[in-house]
Amino acid sequence: MNISENCVASFHYTLTDGSGKVLDSSEGHEPLSYLHGAGNIVPGLEDALTGKVVGDKLKVSVNAAEAYGLRDDNLVQELPSNMFSGIDNIEVGMEFHAETEQGLQVVTVTKVEGDQVTIDGNHPLAGVDLNFDVEITEVRAATEEELNHGHAHGAGGHHHH
Ligand code: ZN
Repeated sequence: MNISENCVASFHYTLTDGSGKVLDSSEGHEPLSYLHGAGNIVPGLEDALTGKVVGDKLKVSVNAAEAYGLRDDNLVQELPSNMFSGIDNIEVGMEFHAETEQGLQVVTVTKVEGDQVTIDGNHPLAGVDLNFDVEITEVRAATEEELNHGHAHGAGGHHHH
């Protein structure tokens, strides 16, 4: 069976950036399962997997625009630390949910200097070209329930609580 619309495909992957640094990997975990054609994974990777079969191994390079998007400098803001009332120590790396013009966004603190706190609403992988090393481990038809939900169920897929 080839990977096509309304299939659930599972694959092992190693994700590296342009310099070869490993950002993420399924090694030691269940393969990742996704519903093909539903936008569950980055578009550039989904496109490359179309038509593949179990056992196929491929390297897929996805440029930033086709992965998590380009960085948007407008999402970087400096705020006075008194905007973060109720938080004693604001540290680099902290994440907050912020109400913005684009809706609720996750912002990360990237700099703290005196009373000025810099936050960044970009996805951590925005602007990063990604390389996926992929091995397809399973391809099957999606169930009715999976199609209704728009994602894969079972090991490596979506778990409902
Ligand atoms: Zn579901």
